Amino acid sequence: ANNNRRPIVAGNWKMNGNLALVKTMQQSISSIELDNVDIVVCPPAVYINAFDAPDLLTGAQDISLFEAGAHTGDISAGMFAELGCQFVIVGHSERRTDHSESNELVAKKASAALEQGLTPIVCVGEPLQVREAGQVFDYVAEQLDAVISTIGVERLSELVIAYEPVWAIGTGQSATPEQAQDVHRFIREHLAKADSEAGMRIRILYGGSVNARNASALFAQADVDGGLIGGASLKQDEFLAICQSA
Ligand code: PGA
Repeated sequence: ANNNRRPIVAGNWKMNGNLALVKTMQQSISSIELDNVDIVVCPPAVYINAFDAPDLLTGAQDISLFEAGAHTGDISAGMFAELGCQFVIVGHSERRTDHSESNELVAKKASAALEQGLTPIVCVGEPLQVREAGQVFDYVAEQLDAVISTIGVERLSELVIAYEPVWAIGTGQSATPEQAQDVHRFIREHLAKADSEAGMRIRILYGGSVNARNASALFAQADVDGGLIGGASLKQDEFLAICQSA
């Protein structure tokens, strides 16, 4: 939390939900007045257009590298932008694992998103073995460096970063606020080395087993500017409570 950066709470539905959940979430999010947080919903692509609330921010969970053409099953950044999406998650650890997405591919997707006016939420974060080996900073730096060198320092401050330690995703075992802050500070300093303006401006979200009970303490950390929420974003009361903690 820092008054100069507007917090974001983004719900990553992953491959969950249905039209009924779109309706309930839309109603409950519209029912609260939160002027000081950006609330973003990232449902499966097929449901984005079912959201019908002009002031609700939506995001995609992935985009194709390609702009258009013979790429069966792919959806381009431009298509999501036309639907009114503002954000796209790129490089989520599940995509890195399920679809072998490399740091370079993730960086290209971030760049494709920016080209079409979408804000990429670039996910980084280490698996457990890397943490146990004491190499978290090196690992995350490598993930960031691919993005910095691909998109260039000029556009760096347009990114959102999500720090999601792989061992904390969907496990119920969130990073402690101190563990999160440690890595968030490192990420900010690392970005600032490339561009000091970007270091100051970029919003860095924490993700990994955030819930209504642990959100406030995580969001209170100096370099934590909100969260990327998986499981808890599917439960309306819990998600709203998390939004209110930001
Ligand atoms: P989780 O997922 O909140 O269910 O741990 C977070 C994420 O993967 O973005």
